[in-house]
Amino acid sequence: MTATDTTTDFDGRIAYYTMEIAIDNALNTYSGGLGVLAGDTIRSMADMEVPAVCVTQLNEKGYCRQTLEEDGSQISEPDPWPVEKHCDRLDVETTVSVFGRDVTVTAWRYDVESTKSDGVVPIIFLDTNVDDNDDKARQFTQRLYAPGYGEDVTLAQELVLGIAGTRILDELGYDVDTYHMNEGHAAFLTTELLQGRGLSPEQVREKSAFTTHTPVEAGHDEFDWVMVTDALGPSFDVDALRAYSHDQGLNMSLLALHLSGYANSVAKKHQEVSQNMFPEFDIDAITNGVHVPYWIGDAFGDLYDDHISGWRENPYKFKHATVLPDEDLWEAHQAQKRETIEFINEREGADLDPETLTIGFARRAAAYKRADLLFYDTDRLREIAETVGDFQVIYAGTAFPGDENGEQKIRDVVANAKDLEGVVDVEYVQNYDMELGAKLTSGVDVWLNNPRRPLEACGTSGMKAAYNGIPQFGTLDGWWVEGHIEGETGWKIGPEPAESTPDQTSDEEETRQDAMALYDQLENEVVPTYYDDREQWIDVMRQTIAFNGPYYHTRRMVREYLMDAYTN
Ligand SMILES: *Cc1c(COP(=O)(O)O)cnc(C)c1O
Repeated sequence: MTATDTTTDFDGRIAYYTMEIAIDNALNTYSGGLGVLAGDTIRSMADMEVPAVCVTQLNEKGYCRQTLEEDGSQISEPDPWPVEKHCDRLDVETTVSVFGRDVTVTAWRYDVESTKSDGVVPIIFLDTNVDDNDDKARQFTQRLYAPGYGEDVTLAQELVLGIAGTRILDELGYDVDTYHMNEGHAAFLTTELLQGRGLSPEQVREKSAFTTHTPVEAGHDEFDWVMVTDALGPSFDVDALRAYSHDQGLNMSLLALHLSGYANSVAKKHQEVSQNMFPEFDIDAITNGVHVPYWIGDAFGDLYDDHISGWRENPYKFKHATVLPDEDLWEAHQAQKRETIEFINEREGADLDPETLTIGFARRAAAYKRADLLFYDTDRLREIAETVGDFQVIYAGTAFPGDENGEQKIRDVVANAKDLEGVVDVEYVQNYDMELGAKLTSGVDVWLNNPRRPLEACGTSGMKAAYNGIPQFGTLDGWWVEGHIEGETGWKIGPEPAESTPDQTSDEEETRQDAMALYDQLENEVVPTYYDDREQWIDVMRQTIAFNGPYYHTRRMVREYLMDAYTN
């Protein structure tokens, strides 16, 4: 195998397993934050010359290409991408038994090359779309999260990722020291180590690390035991697996936790939530980050080059952001804002204005993220726009195909946009992807994030915004619990974490209170500061960079994984 030998103090190879990865806008192999995190992690591992290899599913038909009808109804289509154009076919093959047949699995390779070191991390894409397989098996690796394909295909995908992925790494000759499961989808790798390779549970734990990413129950896949028994076949000892889950079924997070020597959550607050979900396990916290050079707009790149030497290699230097002059900071911001607004006006036929306070909101359209919170009381919203100061709002985000609640949120935003025409300009930009994500998080004035507490594990779009000097305005959940200083790095919506008792407050009541808090802050802080105290606004921008910049990057995050997760 030609994977680079690298120079680092850490000499074991890390195999990073993930169902999705956002590595390039041309590769439609991701759906949201989990994939973006995986991509940024691998980019930083390459920069740091960490000896790693990434294993994922090919997803040749992508995840979902979103278009919206007039009323905001989402049309979800496959989103194929040209695999041969970007990846090299590897001469490697293995089989895995799935629902009574041997499925052939092949692989493609894509190298993530660092732009600032000699580091390279190969991504191995698993592919079942080959002549040997029947029509059903050929579909297994085609579409991310198999929308509409049925739960048996989801289970098959996870068998391919965990079991075939591990066999393919063996075939390719990788000597893996640590297996890292980025979410529970890959947890079958532990069963391969146990039953395929004959390791003891202790030996498996020594080699395995697990990161859990969601406090939402549905984010933890669970398959009933009958289906698991059918899928794994008679040669597999399903009874031996029961000790690593519970009676209701095979829960992939429980399987991973039982067989990992190290487990972590992705923010301090998320640690508490995860610890409550899985009280019998020890769960550490490594807060997520972003790959800084990837997400910074051109004007800010130039600004930082002028004032913060070494930031590209070492984002801890953002501590020096206190030296950024007012005028330069503002000019860089306006340049990026003009570019973003032009991009959106052109793409959506919109008429957004670069001098108007612009609020950005982009994330998967999952119900708990409450895209419609801003419109809870449109009379109040109108009044703020008419009496305090004008603002416009840009939305983007795709609902999981068939997720009624998520799709309804988009229709709600679009209906409210029509209702507010002439008072508040609201645009819903179609087909949220990495490119649009980068444009939005580098070119709006304030980043709105109002998930229902405590359901946001971390959130990374606000970090991208912070690196572009854009303060966040949000509920104190996920990373914002750590990154927020009121009036200094942005503004909060609703109570401090210690004051909030989500279990005792109904959904409706909590949402009402948060909406009122949002309006109060918009009316008294965000809008007046922007228009009447520009100097103070620029101070907030600068503090956002100086306070959060040194920490919320994947270089720091990967270092923490190296020290704590990969050395147990
Ligand atoms: C950054 C990003 C995300 C993750 O953002 P969250 O704040 O975690 O919701 C999702 N999708 C895309 C396209 C992104 O760029």
